[in-house]
Amino acid sequence: MLSRRALLAAGLCFSGAAHAKERARADSAFLAFVEALRPDAAARGVTPQTFEAAFRGIVAPDSAVLARTHRQSEFVRPVWDYLVGAVSGGRIARGRARAATLVTTLQAIEGRYGVPGPVVLAIWGVESDFGASAGDVPTIRALATLAAAGHRGTLFRDELLAALTILQRGDVTPDRMSGSWAGAMGQVQFLPSTYLAQAVDFDGDGHRDIWASAPDSLASIAAYLKDLGWDPALSWGYEVRLPEGFDLARYAGDLADFTARGVRRADGGPLPSRGRASLFLPGGLGAPAFLITDNFEVIRGYNTSDSYALAVGHLADRLGGGPPLAAPWPAAPGLDGPGLRKLQVGLASAGLYDGPTDGRAGPKLREAVRRYQIRAGLPADGYATATLLAHVVGQTAPRP
Ligand code: CA
Repeated sequence: MLSRRALLAAGLCFSGAAHAKERARADSAFLAFVEALRPDAAARGVTPQTFEAAFRGIVAPDSAVLARTHRQSEFVRPVWDYLVGAVSGGRIARGRARAATLVTTLQAIEGRYGVPGPVVLAIWGVESDFGASAGDVPTIRALATLAAAGHRGTLFRDELLAALTILQRGDVTPDRMSGSWAGAMGQVQFLPSTYLAQAVDFDGDGHRDIWASAPDSLASIAAYLKDLGWDPALSWGYEVRLPEGFDLARYAGDLADFTARGVRRADGGPLPSRGRASLFLPGGLGAPAFLITDNFEVIRGYNTSDSYALAVGHLADRLGGGPPLAAPWPAAPGLDGPGLRKLQVGLASAGLYDGPTDGRAGPKLREAVRRYQIRAGLPADGYATATLLAHVVGQTAPRP
């Protein structure tokens, strides 16, 4: 008679065999996908030799990459939690030390692209901790895995073809082309198409090297920000103090007008007399308040997240010698992903929101929240909380 253990082992063997069969099927589908790329790669000038070298040793999808696509986070990290990690004391110290060794390079980059050194450094810091952690996932295999799985339509197939084009140009060898699981490469975390459009050779060795060259990485960041519309005359924004009785319904306008209405920089410095800004209250009233300029949106163009843009802006200030934020953050977080989705649905049915129902905060949702608050006679801080959601649902739910 077989022992329970032997039965279990037999069962495991059986499911192991089924699993192996399933995997063999997936692997051959993956290889067929790669083979089918050849005509499109050739049309872009990728030679058979480059193609072979790019896929040498790649015989199966990267299961770790696939696993990441299934890990859809519903948890929205409060902006202040994100800032603690992204703008830590250690990162500020490392950034200042790196800046001291790159003074001439940063000056030359600012001279050519009009983006201040601290802003360029801050993006480098948030993306790869100043080049120290650029990610070691092989890019070709990661992109081929995502493309073969049809993840996000044809986006990753196009990026894979762009990556092959980069290899064809000889800027990097396949073994050095690495980055994050989703295909963002090197110290600046550019997708291949962004690399082709924006990366620059700043150290003059003839290669655009965002994997090993600090000058190339920094200049590539600056070139991208310039292309996204960075205005050299403006900062990204300022932490400010609002006067008693400030009318939150008038939250966008000229900086000079904000000054006239009693708004002051938290660090005591002067606000510029020219340019426009809008009020950003990522933790609601009482938490740090910011006047953000169009350059804040430029940073969001690099990575579409309010928390990211605020971290980059604040880290840039700290690297430039600025103080920590003056106001405290609130104890309670804002809405999470499902809550934000419900709010988007509610505001859409109230005719105030026509953006995606994606559970993400951003300028469009903020604008809709403010319009709702103004209409309802609430303080228009644009901050999406559970209390606000309850108010919206109470107003917009169908009545029996
Ligand atoms: Ca170079």
